[in-house]
Amino acid sequence: MIRQRKKPYSLLCYEALFRRLKNKYRQSHAVHQDYANVLSGYLGERQVDYILSATPTYFSHAYQGLRLKNHQHYFQMDTVLLSNKFILIIEIKNWKGVLTYHSNLKNITQIYNNTEKSYRNPITQVEAHKLQLEYWLQQMLGIYGVPIETLVVISDSATILKNPQEDPQFYNTVIYADNLPSKLDELWKKYPKSSLTNSQLREIHSHFLKYNDDYQPDLIRLYNLDKSHLIHGIECAKCGQYPMTRVHGKWYCIHCSFTDKLAHERVILDYFLLFKPTITNKDCREFLQIESPKVAYSLLQSMKLNKSGEHRGREYHAPKLEDYPQHSHIPWKMETTLNVTF
Ligand SMILES: [Zn+2]
Repeated sequence: MIRQRKKPYSLLCYEALFRRLKNKYRQSHAVHQDYANVLSGYLGERQVDYILSATPTYFSHAYQGLRLKNHQHYFQMDTVLLSNKFILIIEIKNWKGVLTYHSNLKNITQIYNNTEKSYRNPITQVEAHKLQLEYWLQQMLGIYGVPIETLVVISDSATILKNPQEDPQFYNTVIYADNLPSKLDELWKKYPKSSLTNSQLREIHSHFLKYNDDYQPDLIRLYNLDKSHLIHGIECAKCGQYPMTRVHGKWYCIHCSFTDKLAHERVILDYFLLFKPTITNKDCREFLQIESPKVAYSLLQSMKLNKSGEHRGREYHAPKLEDYPQHSHIPWKMETTLNVTF
């Protein structure tokens, strides 16, 4: 029922940023740190997906990274499992080291690599999601009273959990990913009766899909970047020089003679991830550093993107999130300086 999730925009956008930044800016500590956090969260979620995928369950549907809105306020849940008995919201934390829950302060501190750090209480976080989802179901579908269960799952079983005040809420809510199968079983037995009809279940499912609104960060704005920080044209995958030039239907590097037929595809996708979800012929020429509108036209056409408008006003649209290529292809230099365990 559960598949491994695809990369979220936040991760794809960082990967695109590392490909587009000039080499000297790729080493920015702030960017690396933020990227490492996003990547670590994603790897933890994949770990939980993997365990769930191997667990036979009675849930009808699973949603990953479901992001919904109450009025103007968004809330995003790492995993949601839907059944006619109850809904389960799972918050996934890929936290390492030693975690201590302070019942009186309602926070968690982590000691990892000799550094102590404090985190927002993940129980409060997932309980807030529960209230938000309850409200959303009432407002969108007029559904009241469906039980919603919550769990905080620690994806790495080597992490040490401490609960010195023996807070029962912590014991009940925070578990290791490895214990998910038995916890799901326990929750399933807690609800002998259905609380949703099949048609309500279908309605919730179709509304989740319809109103899910994936978050795409604007990294150019976040890090105050402009054209001077970014590579112009296409970077040679072999020697790192740019721009490659278009010769006889191929991209050619004048520095090392490397050729590549499809080098523009990744760069156009990176444009969508970094700038906006549509591109015109003119934007494309500027971004790829080419003169000919005819060449830009044939490159854009060849990518089979959705289009709108005619002639000069024609815009080509970004693919859906799930259709982005999943391999990272990050410039090799960055991994050497990144302090993250894969
Ligand atoms: Zn080259």
